[in-house]
Amino acid sequence: MAYSIEQRDEQLLNTTAPIRYHWYFDNAHRHLVRIVMEIDNNSDNNSTAEPLTLGLPVWIPGSYKVRDYISTLGSFTVTDADGTALVWQWISKNRLQIASPTQSVHVEYFYYAFERDSTIRSSHVTRSHAFINPVTCALYVEGREHEIHHVCFHYDRTKWATISTPLSPVKSAVASDEPLVLGALNYDILVDSPVEIGNHFVSKFLYENSVVETAVVGRGNYDADWIARQIETIVTTEAQMWGGLPFDRYVFIIHLFPTMRGGGLEHARCSVNAVESGNWSDTAKLHNLLSLLCHEFFHVWNIKRIRPRELGPFDYNQENLTRMLWLVEGATSYYDDMLTYRCGFYTRDEYFKVISKDHLGRFFRTPGRLQASIKDNSYQAWVKLYLPHDESVNRNVSYYLHGGLIFMLLDFWIITQSKGIKRLDDGFRALWSVYQQRPATGITEDEFIEVVESATGVTVRERLTQWLNSTAELPFDEVFGAMGLAWQPAPVKDVKPSEGTQPMTLVQKLFTGATLKAENGKILVAQVEENTPAEASGLAPDDEILFVNSTRVASVDDVEYQLAKRGTESASQLVIASDAAMEAIALQPVLQPEFVFAVAEAANDEQKRWIEFWLARS
Ligand SMILES: [Zn+2]
Repeated sequence: MAYSIEQRDEQLLNTTAPIRYHWYFDNAHRHLVRIVMEIDNNSDNNSTAEPLTLGLPVWIPGSYKVRDYISTLGSFTVTDADGTALVWQWISKNRLQIASPTQSVHVEYFYYAFERDSTIRSSHVTRSHAFINPVTCALYVEGREHEIHHVCFHYDRTKWATISTPLSPVKSAVASDEPLVLGALNYDILVDSPVEIGNHFVSKFLYENSVVETAVVGRGNYDADWIARQIETIVTTEAQMWGGLPFDRYVFIIHLFPTMRGGGLEHARCSVNAVESGNWSDTAKLHNLLSLLCHEFFHVWNIKRIRPRELGPFDYNQENLTRMLWLVEGATSYYDDMLTYRCGFYTRDEYFKVISKDHLGRFFRTPGRLQASIKDNSYQAWVKLYLPHDESVNRNVSYYLHGGLIFMLLDFWIITQSKGIKRLDDGFRALWSVYQQRPATGITEDEFIEVVESATGVTVRERLTQWLNSTAELPFDEVFGAMGLAWQPAPVKDVKPSEGTQPMTLVQKLFTGATLKAENGKILVAQVEENTPAEASGLAPDDEILFVNSTRVASVDDVEYQLAKRGTESASQLVIASDAAMEAIALQPVLQPEFVFAVAEAANDEQKRWIEFWLARS
């Protein structure tokens, strides 16, 4: 059976399923879901003589970390349809086997569905709502993943009025006393379909023949209607880039809670987007949300469909390693802010500032960018990006950040080499045609290069291969220069006291290369970048800063102020504590000019035309 993640709602109507889950929410206040799984074992291709193996994925596609969701399931019973116990045992940490299955097998267990701050990758069931990623609790039946799966939802619909999910309705009308039944054409689609149930905000609109739903869950002074309107712009802008939408229905689930850790997760007909709630009058916060929404929606094409060979079909029992996350996360990171700009959410000036600060600025503050190639960082994502530590900054760099810049260079390379006729969009549209011709199989690095070269007429192989395999600095000056752009020092701002200002605003913030954090009343060094004044001084992660220039320091700001007051002419004297010992350290910060991404002063008319072409909004 060919791998497919495509499903249209009409395909599930009036279907029956040989594998059914019943989810009971009576104990939602305890964050518990009781699950009864019914497996019909009597169809022609399933012999009851063979042992039946069930399992739970150890990871969720899109997030490259072994999470062992099985740890939250328990109290298993396995019976036939009459309740007679069947013999079964665990055969690995996440798989169980039933020795002699009967024609109908019932497996019952409890799921503790309560991830506090990282719900996009797991579940959150409380008195007020239920958010469930089926990958965390729906066992697969080995060898029968291609069959139709149904989920029957048992909850009080007068208490929870709304459900948002890409799972498809099985019946066109449901009586008030019967459970809601939703379905998936196969197991891959089931576990790619998160479910939000509760009393959340919902808004829908139609783009051509596709229904796009916005579901906003959370607390705070946000304006859900406003968010839904921006989503219309995002969907329209991205659909225009790709030439239409590849689904009949799509759901944006948006979680906005005060304690939420931000992030998103992409699915074929859905995305889950989490942003810390709070002060929504902050423009940067709004921009973060809009850029996240653009990012996750771009994945509809780039990763859910156009994808490396290794990312679909999946092996749910172990890490799925790929050297190509530069393509799916790198390009998506380049396009997320580009699309935020194309949607009109950023002015041109704001877009340049975002490139300066969030892309180039962050990249150059990561010495680890020169220590491992992006392909190695992709391959090791499971044990690098997803298991970071204090020293990571010096050993590797995120393939989102690194990949985003490689795609920016690639876009500029194509524009300059084609003399402003072709651009990266042309390459991605060609990749989309290739996907449509053979959706069951992902692409290789070689194929990516071939498709982009034939779509643009520009030779990219030599350059791109070098950028992907090398640890050398990327040729920003050369490629930006050819385009009439520059990464250059900003004029140093004159910090002059003006009447009525506080002393803190009078001093220039200095650069040390150490990142500080306040923890339990202590000021600690979080990380130290290599080849910086902090490294030269001997500061190291976990050092506690007690005194700066004989002043007892009370906060991170205070340390920065004391350093700034001494200036760069002579070293500041620090007293630090590490382990049990106290030490004196001399730290000489520098005044590091801020760099900005800008149109070069020397840009000629042709280059200015290329820049306009790059920044065209449609
Ligand atoms: Zn992504």
